Amino acid sequence: MADVVFRNVTKRYGGTLAVDDASFAVNDNEFFCFFGPPLSGKSTLLRLILGLEAPDTGEILIGGRPVNAVSPAERNVAMVFQNLALFPHMSALENVRFPLVERRVAEAEIEKRVADVAAKLHIGHILHKPPAQLSGGERQRVAIARALVRDPAAYLMDDPISALDARLREETRVELKRIQRELGKTLIYVTHDQEEAMSVADRIAILESGKIRQIGAPAEVYDRPASTYVARLLGSPMMNILKSVRGEGGVEAAEGRIHIADKAAPADAVEIGLRPEDIKVRPWSDGARSDGRTGRPARVFEVEPLGGYTIVTLAAGQARLRALLRGQPDIRPDAMVAISCEPGRVHYFGHGGGALAR
Ligand code: ADP
Ligand code: MG
Repeated sequence: MADVVFRNVTKRYGGTLAVDDASFAVNDNEFFCFFGPPLSGKSTLLRLILGLEAPDTGEILIGGRPVNAVSPAERNVAMVFQNLALFPHMSALENVRFPLVERRVAEAEIEKRVADVAAKLHIGHILHKPPAQLSGGERQRVAIARALVRDPAAYLMDDPISALDARLREETRVELKRIQRELGKTLIYVTHDQEEAMSVADRIAILESGKIRQIGAPAEVYDRPASTYVARLLGSPMMNILKSVRGEGGVEAAEGRIHIADKAAPADAVEIGLRPEDIKVRPWSDGARSDGRTGRPARVFEVEPLGGYTIVTLAAGQARLRALLRGQPDIRPDAMVAISCEPGRVHYFGHGGGALAR
């Protein structure tokens, strides 16, 4: 059992509220991610779990046991992956054995654990090689094996792959996800990269200045962000958020250039959010009418062809919004297009930025 529970935990550094009344429960075997911008409190949360910091108020439980008074060594949680670099003068095998040798674990136990982790990571056949003879992906797996061989109840990782180049980062997060699933261990993971958080986590806790703003599965926080803050942090391009007013038969934005025919729109909405992939863009001539049913006119401001998809920046009145289209549509700057969005895909926000139910 390695569930991790925080109950109203607060941690201050002088005048800074690094963690502000945090309550959450990480489940056993879960891949749980803390995600937020720099200085939002992610590393402090990990240090509180490890026991390197003590909370000012509140309670921390690991595996059902209150640990506020338990030393880091006795918590059976481990920060791993701080150093992905392998020792170049040692074979892969010696690298993986190293943490156990250092802790004077008995030889029979070392052999058992190394064999176990090597099988899970599929690296048995490369263990005799020095790091220089391994591919980038193989080196990653050996480094992960070295981190995992200690076998704690829960692993913590603080932005472990941010230093890698983009391609290796993509490979490594796939490895991590698969490894976590196969090991069946609790993994608490910190990242400031929204794509990484979305791709690896079972659930994400989204932080703002020490406060947890929302916790949910990736699809849940993406599809139902609790606020404009969360909505803006997840998704690329970012959600379009526009001031809105009640209009005839629905909601209008961008001086009436955007019309959402939604009679169920909440009366207290002051902003609407449109995901770039939810905006429909068609040539203006293509049977479009100004009645709003098939879209209102907008001007194409700029086009970014990215191969598999294309980002189109649109000018609707004074507003700029970005649409994400599949493939490489024949759309040019300055062309007039009709834009629309299914009412069911529109996000509504009230005063203060909180999401409103339709
Ligand atoms: P993150 O990991 O999200 O970047 P941190 O947990 O490192 O955020 O920091 C949260 C806040 O606490 C920041 O305002 C930071 O400046 C402050 N902080 C963190 N550690 C210390 C420390 N040892 N002493 C003083 N302030 C700290
Ligand atoms: Mg940090």
